[in-house]
Amino acid sequence: MIRRVFLLYFICCFLCVYTIAAGQFTADLVILNGKIRTLDDKSPVVEAAAVKDGKIAATGSTAVIRKLAGAKTKMIDAGGKLVLPGFNDSHVHFLGIGSAFFSVDLRRAGSLEHLLSKIKFNARFIPEGQWILGSGWNSKSWKNDDLPRRESLDTAAPGNPVLLYSDDYRLAVANSAALKLAGYDKPSKIIKNGVIERNADGSPTGILRGDAIAYLRALGPKLADKQELEALETATNYAASLGVTSVHDVHSDDITPLMTELEKSGKLKTRVYDCISLTKWKELNDAGIAAASGSPMIRRGCLKHFSDGDPEVIPDLLAMMIPADKAGLQIAVHAIGPRANNVVLELLDQIIKRNGSRDRRFRVEHAHNFSSVDGRRFSALRAIASMQPHLFGGGEPYRSLLQSNTRLAFGSDASITDLDPLLGIHAAVNSGAERSISVEDAVRAYTLGSAYAEYQENVKGSISIGKLADLVILSDDIFVVPNSKIREARVLTTILDGKIVYEAK
Ligand SMILES: [Zn+2]
Repeated sequence: MIRRVFLLYFICCFLCVYTIAAGQFTADLVILNGKIRTLDDKSPVVEAAAVKDGKIAATGSTAVIRKLAGAKTKMIDAGGKLVLPGFNDSHVHFLGIGSAFFSVDLRRAGSLEHLLSKIKFNARFIPEGQWILGSGWNSKSWKNDDLPRRESLDTAAPGNPVLLYSDDYRLAVANSAALKLAGYDKPSKIIKNGVIERNADGSPTGILRGDAIAYLRALGPKLADKQELEALETATNYAASLGVTSVHDVHSDDITPLMTELEKSGKLKTRVYDCISLTKWKELNDAGIAAASGSPMIRRGCLKHFSDGDPEVIPDLLAMMIPADKAGLQIAVHAIGPRANNVVLELLDQIIKRNGSRDRRFRVEHAHNFSSVDGRRFSALRAIASMQPHLFGGGEPYRSLLQSNTRLAFGSDASITDLDPLLGIHAAVNSGAERSISVEDAVRAYTLGSAYAEYQENVKGSISIGKLADLVILSDDIFVVPNSKIREARVLTTILDGKIVYEAK
């Protein structure tokens, strides 16, 4: 019996190895008829790619890759569109990105349609049942003074309670889900010092005044409620819609437990590298965590600090950084302005002198507005410039950094600015004759560059055989359209781990 089991095992292994060697595996997903920019020098542009077990398994012509599809293979016809590796944003505040969707600033809503489109947009990404609060609308400033109503809000956000204050806070409008929570759907419901405006049949119109607003608002989230899990779910949905498949969370809080919960519930659509405060380096070290430890979805081992350029703090910072670096942790320090960048490069210099050279991938977050002398030190010290071209409006010396072989990692700094990577690529490419970099280099900084900044360049960042199948299909070929139009391209499809996590409707 045992012998038979062994024999079967060997036959299985042999068949398995043989079929892979012959290229005859059946793909889980194939992309055909695309213009796939792999960022892999071996075959920079291909038509088609096959995915197996969440990894790129083959690339080539549509005719060849089509043969790897079986009855259960997911087929994507890219229709000649540009396919790139999923974007990797090296600098985000992930919680902030999500929670910004829960409250809507309506001061600039210029019409009822504009107000409704804002609510509809937010509702696309937030979990069902999550409240949407808004304020600031004023229908008197609109062309037709048509007040928003329950029915139109229901169309915009059917699955979420919505309450929108007007700019004087004495008038508000709510949708059916919110009205129902307060019992306002029952014609008999009355609120002292408040008005629940009703139609002739007794149904609420959605318009509320006075204490009827306060009563309803009290049923919604409290200001102190953090709603963190809901915010992260929103952030990951939004990231998927922009083709962002990886982020580095540089907010100093520890979001790993929440991200793990999100992953367990099957809702995580973004790989996360979680940077926590430098002051907590010992906690990580005690837990046996070094740089880039964890799973392909959630990793940690990165420490974030802030330099405002005060040289007096250098000894205190080194007292934490030198042992943290020795423990194999990665350090990322925020630096804006010549003084701050100078202090941060000085810290790195000291760390190297004390701990010797190693593959430490020290990151300068923002690396904005450094002196020309310090600009040359980035490559000498092998510091990574983690830059956000859209945040600073482009025009930074991207080209000279690349020419001096400095590693660039691009990101957004969302939620301070928008997460959309095409805005960053647009800004870097349109930075003026002396500073602009090519579309290819900007895309590389937003994929391979960020992957390098998290020690993952052999795992993701290009469409290479064996790498993670994180991909994005764009509406326009940003390598071909005029540079001034790059930011107009939209994401059609986002694939994470070989699965579609976003499709444009
Ligand atoms: Zn930031």
